[in-house]
Amino acid sequence: MSGWFPFHGGLKTVRHKTESNQQPIRSAALPKHVTVPLRQHIGAIAKPVVQVGERVLKGQMIGQPDGYVSAAVHAPTSGVVAAVDQQAVPHPSGLPDWCVTIESDGEDRWIEREPVDYRRLHPSALRNVLRSAGIVGLGGAAFPSAVKLNLSGHCERLDTLILNGAECEPWITCDDRLMRERAAEIIAGLRVMAQLLEPREVLIGIEDDKPEAIAAMAAACAGSGYAVRPVPARYPSGSVKQLVKLLTGKETPVDGLPVDAGVQCFNVATAYTVHRAIDRGEPVLSRIVTVTGHIRQPQNLEVLLGTSVAELIAQSGGYRDGVRRLIMGGPLMGFALHDDRVPVTKATNCILAASAAELAPEQPVMPCIRCGACADACPAELLPQQLYWHARAKEFDKAQDYHLFSCIECGCCSYVCPSRIPLVQYYRYAKNEIWALEKEKEKAELARQRHQARLERLEREKREREAKLRQKAPPRPAATAEKSPIEDAVARAKASAPPPETAVVTDSRDS
Ligand code: SF4
Ligand code: SF4
Repeated sequence: MSGWFPFHGGLKTVRHKTESNQQPIRSAALPKHVTVPLRQHIGAIAKPVVQVGERVLKGQMIGQPDGYVSAAVHAPTSGVVAAVDQQAVPHPSGLPDWCVTIESDGEDRWIEREPVDYRRLHPSALRNVLRSAGIVGLGGAAFPSAVKLNLSGHCERLDTLILNGAECEPWITCDDRLMRERAAEIIAGLRVMAQLLEPREVLIGIEDDKPEAIAAMAAACAGSGYAVRPVPARYPSGSVKQLVKLLTGKETPVDGLPVDAGVQCFNVATAYTVHRAIDRGEPVLSRIVTVTGHIRQPQNLEVLLGTSVAELIAQSGGYRDGVRRLIMGGPLMGFALHDDRVPVTKATNCILAASAAELAPEQPVMPCIRCGACADACPAELLPQQLYWHARAKEFDKAQDYHLFSCIECGCCSYVCPSRIPLVQYYRYAKNEIWALEKEKEKAELARQRHQARLERLEREKREREAKLRQKAPPRPAATAEKSPIEDAVARAKASAPPPETAVVTDSRDS
């Protein structure tokens, strides 16, 4: 099957790709220090395995995965561990998180690296290699890839493996440049993924405004059986459920995952890191970041993780006058940074320095006029105004009835709303509240279970103590039946009678 299947809603956005995609990818300068967050992925934070003062080599593991849904973290360069503490990290909350800071020794000295003969590995061993290499989705979600490369519990046989090169956010071009310049390496990584998933077909979705990337990827795919499928440049075609619909016509189940419909999807940059892990023995230490907007030299930089955003801006010529906001990710799905000293992480695909021209004009929020424009634009086919009412009224159960968690926070509804209601902010608020309530519930349930377990333990210990006491005590005499006074008298008489051998034998004849 070729062609594509349209999804509901979406936007035709004004593109700002040429600002940054005209130059080849440049390597960013080696920073003096890197601050590497131990949580750069969805799931449990990695456990630090280095101490302050320890020397580390480039590629050495500094944080090990903690549990199934977690990812390893590695030293992006060689040097000395200067701190293991909480630092500012890029997150919408602005809260700090645990990081390992490494003072670079300037040598950038590697650990021993060896390619992996993946064709001979058992699937679980191969997944472990990828897990130890810290591979997560680089499209922004940062979900550990080893988990997604295991189908068990979802479907028996995968119909379609999709490689996502759509890159629909209007300012981001890092995947475009990566596909143009390193297509063969991306396809090498894709082969590894295909070996694990054994899909019936492999499709590569790329928006049709990237002809050079389409040509490069098609050339790299020659003879592989993989198919490059251009899709219309319509936001949010790069969102997973929308790309699945575009390429396969399949709807992802509400509140479900594409894999439940027999489709799995990875970003092109993730496939590239798989290639580096397998063919070069290199864990994830860097990524391509689009640095763009109101700066002097927009470009794509290959950046060591842990490098500060301020350094990237400086290496891109610095800010131009009039920057109003710094955004990580695109203007539609990204979030504002509180500080440019935060480090680049695996999820950082773009830094946008936005002036007033790049931001929506500030206008007063007006009441909802029930025009329905938001519902028309919603690619998830939700009812955004209903979600808004319920989120605003803190009716979280009702918001969930309207599938709040199917909202991909694409921002299409806010973009088209004539009343300028910041709808997505309400959905994020409602989701955070629900998660917080769920956590409270879990805590209360855990406390209840602990209390119950303690009561049971105390009861068991009491029973055991009593059983031991019974074992130690001398056997109690058998209970004697109560005797009547006559029986008592007879017994006493018997007891006071002389022993038989001294008894006087009387004969009535002698008296
Ligand atoms: S687009 Fe805005 S004004 Fe129109 S129905 Fe939706 S929330 Fe209300
Ligand atoms: S942000 Fe959510 S509700 Fe709004 S258009 Fe996107 S998916 Fe729909």
